Amino acid sequence: MSLTYKKADPLVHGAVKNLTCITEANKQPHHEEQYYYVFWVSHVDNVHMSGGLNKSQVKKWLEISDEDFDKKLDLKEFFCKVCDSESNTAFARLAKIGDKTCINCLE
Ligand SMILES: [Zn+2]
Repeated sequence: MSLTYKKADPLVHGAVKNLTCITEANKQPHHEEQYYYVFWVSHVDNVHMSGGLNKSQVKKWLEISDEDFDKKLDLKEFFCKVCDSESNTAFARLAKIGDKTCINCLE
């Protein structure tokens, strides 16, 4: 995988090595816009989450296209892609390396 260093959340010091996933934030009744969480791995392999971003902010800050956005958007982030069970381990792996597989399916 090629390393791409992008500017991410201005509140976070770090460069984005890998954008692992985008998830939808729960929509608040007083918000008209949909907000997202972005999970990404920094150049020193720390997992970060940037929240409270709308789609255009996500695309601008992470420098991604509509296609990339759709590819990274995961609406079932807690469900293992193999067995479809709800699992925190699947989500942890998704956020860290972009692979949504639970611990049971890895063994
Ligand atoms: Zn599984």
